[in-house]
Amino acid sequence: MFSTSSFAAHSATTPLSPLQIARREVGPLDVQIDIEYCGICHTDLHVAKNDWGRSVYPIVPGHEIVGRVRAVGAKVKRFAPGQAVAVGCFVGSCGTCASCADHMEQYCLNGYTLTYGSPSADPGGYTQGGYSKSIVVGEHFVLSLPDGLDPAAAAPLLCAGITSYSPLRHWGIGPGMTVGVIGLGGLGHMGVKLAHAMGAKTVMITTSPAKAADAMRLGANEVLISTDEQAMLAMANQFDFLLNTILVPHDFNTYMGLLKVDGTMCIVGAIGPNAQLNTRPLILGRRNIAGSLVGGIKETQEMLNFCAAHEIVSDIELIPVEQINEAYVRMQNNDVKYRFVIDMATLA
Ligand SMILES: [Zn+2]
Ligand SMILES: [Zn+2]
Repeated sequence: MFSTSSFAAHSATTPLSPLQIARREVGPLDVQIDIEYCGICHTDLHVAKNDWGRSVYPIVPGHEIVGRVRAVGAKVKRFAPGQAVAVGCFVGSCGTCASCADHMEQYCLNGYTLTYGSPSADPGGYTQGGYSKSIVVGEHFVLSLPDGLDPAAAAPLLCAGITSYSPLRHWGIGPGMTVGVIGLGGLGHMGVKLAHAMGAKTVMITTSPAKAADAMRLGANEVLISTDEQAMLAMANQFDFLLNTILVPHDFNTYMGLLKVDGTMCIVGAIGPNAQLNTRPLILGRRNIAGSLVGGIKETQEMLNFCAAHEIVSDIELIPVEQINEAYVRMQNNDVKYRFVIDMATLA
């Protein structure tokens, strides 16, 4: 075991504050990483505030981790000290089930190990995340950060980026297709950049006309205001795919008529139970509603390589560690363009 500094939530109601935590010693298959940057995801906020009722305190959030290899175990083959690396939302899975065999560790049938808050053999009995100076992760779950990606702005690719990339790839998005990205936040702004880079006609769908100019700057070909009934009707049956990034309960039915026959709307926000579903637009058009969770390790590496090739990173606000609590408040008010990233050099 060794000790490292972190910023932790100590209860649902108190601000995050510094905490020394213990990390496991570097095992034969482990990579020890000096963390340089960590993005702030909505999940961090939910877990810090115990919104899902499963948080065990103290908890160190953070699963958009970028850093450099400090040390590697004797059997590690792919990494060496000094190398730029990244870690995303999970750090373990069974490795043997059908999902794991298919490179979809995020759908492990025996339960994956999340980067923070999962029971584990680590000191303290639970994994602790990236708001920290150092982390030890099994080689299989460490990504190589390609040259050319700004490391701070690349951090959000590890959750927001892959959450958008995986469904766009799964549904075969490419030239000749029309994709709508619903909601312009951390996820949505990545969705627009990625769908555009994949060659699809990309439409930002938002309730907020004020976001139109920014959506176009990010790569949208058009902006559709979802409260404008005439504009929505004019775009009926036009979309091959809708990436729904809204993070609060809302009416799915608003969007279903936009889809072509056999079109799919994929939900990526963990909003839980949602408003009543009208089956008519599903039946009339054989339309689909689906969900998707981040991406597997192989696909996450592919996403990082794709982003390097297309010069895609997140739009970020880089903050010192003392501003985490302020950032949480601003995030709750949707006041961030489009992701906070913590500069871990500011953590003592
Ligand atoms: Zn996340
Ligand atoms: Zn598995």
